[in-house]
Amino acid sequence: MTKKSIGVDLGGSHVLAAIVERAEHDIVDREVDAVVETIAKAISDVMELGKEKSYLGIGLGSPGNIDPATGTVRYSPNFGWHDVPLGKLLRERFEVPIFIGNDARCATLGEYVHGIGKGTKNFVLLTLGTGIGGGVVADGRLILGTSAGAGEVGHHQVRATDGFYCNCGKMGCFEAQASGTGLIRHALAIAPSFPRSTLVSGKPEKLGSKAIRKAAEAGDPHGVAAWNRYIDDLACGIANVIAFVNPQTIALGGGVAAAGDFMLDAVRPRIEVLTTMVPRGQTNIVCATLGNDAGAIGSAEMARRGGLTTGATG
Ligand SMILES: [Zn+2]
Repeated sequence: MTKKSIGVDLGGSHVLAAIVERAEHDIVDREVDAVVETIAKAISDVMELGKEKSYLGIGLGSPGNIDPATGTVRYSPNFGWHDVPLGKLLRERFEVPIFIGNDARCATLGEYVHGIGKGTKNFVLLTLGTGIGGGVVADGRLILGTSAGAGEVGHHQVRATDGFYCNCGKMGCFEAQASGTGLIRHALAIAPSFPRSTLVSGKPEKLGSKAIRKAAEAGDPHGVAAWNRYIDDLACGIANVIAFVNPQTIALGGGVAAAGDFMLDAVRPRIEVLTTMVPRGQTNIVCATLGNDAGAIGSAEMARRGGLTTGATG
């Protein structure tokens, strides 16, 4: 019988482990020991649900820069971690081989093998959530780079002199301008021009990206203005990615991508205008299909393949 692998998606606030079954746990404490405990609990639970005698491996997608050889998290701003030996700590608890990779790269592998990227050779996933996570498949190979840092497209600058400050310290990163958080920041930045807007009449800190998108869809002037600024920055970043990678497909995932055609119809023509040296009309801009499961599915795929480092699929 074919052995199954387990995929684990470590988010900022939850950990999801999946085979076919899934076990989800909230993260309340971001100290290393507490997070490892929560991950181990999710893995044990999903092993019990899966009822398999043994597993091929466990793949874990974690935020941050990960050493693929050891599974050490070199740096993770989400958890405030530096050089945390996550792989070693988990190997002490499980007999099964454990593979750890960046969560966005794992999600990219998931969408590439099992989702919207299936059948392509040149594919990019951009997850528009709290930040922007990404991953690049070029000529059938998931690109990791010299120190597993390739694909950090959220931190190329699209407004280097007049943008919002990014969590990474730079100004106008793609992530700061075009994530779900970026949409909120656009709306708040122009709010003084819309004194009668109902979007921020309550508590500005409670404003969500979905409310802004809905207001834009309904034709609310504040919502439309924020949305247009957001789409401009999103198009700029995507056009840059096209110039770097010349992909066949760019899939947009994350909360903002729930806008579907409303977003795609707005952003596609702007991308065309900004696509200059690469032939236009060659990149399909689409929505991702695996949703929040992409990370766990891709992590399980990483374990099945024996790591992201041997992720050649061509
Ligand atoms: Zn940044």
